[in-house]
Amino acid sequence: MKITVEEDLCCGSGLCVVKADQVFDQRDEDGVVVVLNDNPPEEQYAGVRDAAAVCPTAAIHLTE
Ligand code: SF4
Repeated sequence: MKITVEEDLCCGSGLCVVKADQVFDQRDEDGVVVVLNDNPPEEQYAGVRDAAAVCPTAAIHLTE
């Protein structure tokens, strides 16, 4: 799995962090998403897929 995010779309809701906090974080200054690991291990796939699904702005893209 390869994760990319469109920072311009991110509204800083933080839902991705709730779903996969080992993969996503937020910048302190503005809450924009930070990808901690763009190639996560398989056991984290479910959380990452959830994160992409709940992102309100569809800013998270997955290539599998
Ligand atoms: S869920 Fe989407 S909009 Fe919210 S912080 Fe994560 S990437 Fe940004």
